[in-house]
Amino acid sequence: MTIHNLGYPRIGDFRELKFTIEAYWKGEKNLVELEEQARNIRYQNYQTQIAAGVELIPVNDFAYYDQVLNMSTLLGVIPERFAQEKYDVEVAFRMARGRAPSDDGHHCCAHHQANSKAGYAGAMKKWFDSNYHYIVPEFEESTRFEITDTRLFDEVAEALALRQDGKNIDFKPVLIGPVTYLYLAENKGTSLPKLQRLESLLDVYCEVLDRLAKLGISWVQVDEPILGLELEQDWQNAFNQAYDTLANSPAKLLLATYFETLGDNLELACRLPVAGLHYDGLRGQKQLDQLVNAYPVNKVLSIGLVDGRNIWKTDLNEAIKLLKEAKDKFAENLWVAPSCSLLHVPVNLEVEEKLESELKNYLAFAKQKLSEIKLIADALNGRENQQALADNSRAIAAKKNSKLVNDFEVQQRIAKLDEIALKRPRPYAERAPEQKAKFHLPLFPTTTIGSFPQTAEIRQVRRQFKSGDISEAQYIEAMQAEIRDVCDRQQRIGIDVLVHGEPERNDMVEYFGEQLDGYAFTQFGWVQSYGSRCVKPPIIFGDVSRPKAMTVAWSKYAQSQTEKIMKGMLTGAVTMLNWSFVRNDQPREITCNQIALALRDEVLDLESAGIHMIQIDEAALREGLPLKKADWQNYLNWAVNSFLITTSGVANTTQIHTHMCYSEFNDIIEAVAAMDADVITIETSKSHMKLLDAFVDFAYPNEIGPGVYDIHSPNIPTVEQMVKLIEQASKLIPVERLWVNPDCGLKTRGWTETEPALVNMVEAAKQLRESF
Ligand code: GLN
Ligand code: ZN
Repeated sequence: MTIHNLGYPRIGDFRELKFTIEAYWKGEKNLVELEEQARNIRYQNYQTQIAAGVELIPVNDFAYYDQVLNMSTLLGVIPERFAQEKYDVEVAFRMARGRAPSDDGHHCCAHHQANSKAGYAGAMKKWFDSNYHYIVPEFEESTRFEITDTRLFDEVAEALALRQDGKNIDFKPVLIGPVTYLYLAENKGTSLPKLQRLESLLDVYCEVLDRLAKLGISWVQVDEPILGLELEQDWQNAFNQAYDTLANSPAKLLLATYFETLGDNLELACRLPVAGLHYDGLRGQKQLDQLVNAYPVNKVLSIGLVDGRNIWKTDLNEAIKLLKEAKDKFAENLWVAPSCSLLHVPVNLEVEEKLESELKNYLAFAKQKLSEIKLIADALNGRENQQALADNSRAIAAKKNSKLVNDFEVQQRIAKLDEIALKRPRPYAERAPEQKAKFHLPLFPTTTIGSFPQTAEIRQVRRQFKSGDISEAQYIEAMQAEIRDVCDRQQRIGIDVLVHGEPERNDMVEYFGEQLDGYAFTQFGWVQSYGSRCVKPPIIFGDVSRPKAMTVAWSKYAQSQTEKIMKGMLTGAVTMLNWSFVRNDQPREITCNQIALALRDEVLDLESAGIHMIQIDEAALREGLPLKKADWQNYLNWAVNSFLITTSGVANTTQIHTHMCYSEFNDIIEAVAAMDADVITIETSKSHMKLLDAFVDFAYPNEIGPGVYDIHSPNIPTVEQMVKLIEQASKLIPVERLWVNPDCGLKTRGWTETEPALVNMVEAAKQLRESF
């Protein structure tokens, strides 16, 4: 029975790789220094895994930027605009970053890149349902597969040098499988169906496998996570073709699937001529028995019950029980591993100094998860570490009954959830005239999405307050001064509905999480999001409640500075959930509803304080969509309900806004309409209002603010450009229901561009009012 791992975080305990790479980009470090840092991290990671008892250790889970990009450069999938005589690492960085990288984006905006210049970056997409983003491979007319970047082979040789005589340690290169690679690639200026490239792609995969075998590799892990999706017949066929071909390779292949059940692909996965299969026994628990029964006993079956997507300790006794049957059937051919690569969890719990010790006892990060796998394997091999297993079950039991986790009052409220109406008292058609009469807004009312430029001074004041360098009174005064300033500016510019600017918020999720009970924050719990960018998701460990109002004082102060309408600003429950590590001891839906109840109280407090327009951002609603379409409706139902829990308590005349910055609404428009926000602001400027089609086709009934300028670019949009966009929108949506606003919040911009852009936006709205 082999203990193996599918991938280890490459950022380092303290994000060393990030800092070195960024220093290299800035020219402060040279390539030799960068390579040395990278080698150190790989070496550390190998040593950590060896020490933990991992016997088959992943190689090529390291990447300077992204593992899919690694594949693209390996296979020679380099867009023409980056082609140069001889490949070097600079090419990969340019493919990822284009010419004008910006790293300090919105939480939601990872997919936005500097573009439109020659040498623009490759597109970025979410890696399945994780928060990791990969660089989308581009196929062009001229694309030919050919081994180009040989880093893989160098790293394999480097790792193999660590093999020790007599010790049971070996290395296993990790590749993205050919079918998944093809599936994720996008055609650019070529109409050749992607699957027609499969054969030539396989030629190069065979060559890669040959070379790996020649280096002395016996196992290669081939990741095919698309086996967790609902696949069309031609893609299923592609699997057969691909693995029939690769079966001739001298390397033994461990096909790896994760993040989902195999669904209808289970039989296919069992039949493929590979030496073994890795299966995510957590996300795929529903089909685990079926797979254990169906999988051929003469092959390796690897089962992952240690969660590579979350930070909780594994219930080891439970896991051992679950694996007993598989062990009986497969004996030595049963392998154990995490459920997926550990890339998606923070590196090392040990370095956390400030977490409550009780909570710490419930957690396991990547390094700790390796030990868990070892304990599982030992127990199955009849070498039970009774002490460790007893400790583990005590921790699991303690968490169940913990006062930290359980809040009776919150549970009571959840039990009585059906007392809350899941709709506003009156339909939009009746609310709208009442709101119009109350707010007296002109046609094409102007507003912004919430944040204003977060200047260096603002960030510094927040830091000083956090570190205790300034008093609370000083902090409040500084923030209020900022609020006064943005109020003045907005009034001067002539915006109709004002915002307070969010100077007090570092991040739209963290800000609220820090004020809610049931949430915890780590010091070093970073996870790679894309390239050198890492996020530190909060941990929702217990029942969530709101000890006191979170935003009311700021909004009230802001309202007191103006006669105009001040819009309140909250982050929605679904977004809070989707950007956090969520407890796994109850359905996500319940945790989401708990947050929604806390937000409902906040909404009602804002309303009582005289804030009668309240925006609830749901930037991450789409991100939570399950991988299988069959599961979408269920998710959307509870997601929408949580929004209604948050909003249904207000008067008809209180106007609820929501904001979503996506690029796709077609397949979720029904749910978005069911949220029944009075106004939704969305990102549309770059698509030239094309995104509105979904709303038009659906006859979306409420008000819409299609973004008229791209906040990701420092360009100042002209009045004419914006007039044109609004005119386009007004052909699609009745003008009484149109708002005028930017695509998203302005926190990443400077005032020098923000102010003239907004002046132009207001001027555009004025011009249009005259023509209607
Ligand atoms: N209100 C937030 C802001 O303006 C919304 C950000 C977002 O959609 N990601 O910053
Ligand atoms: Zn946004």
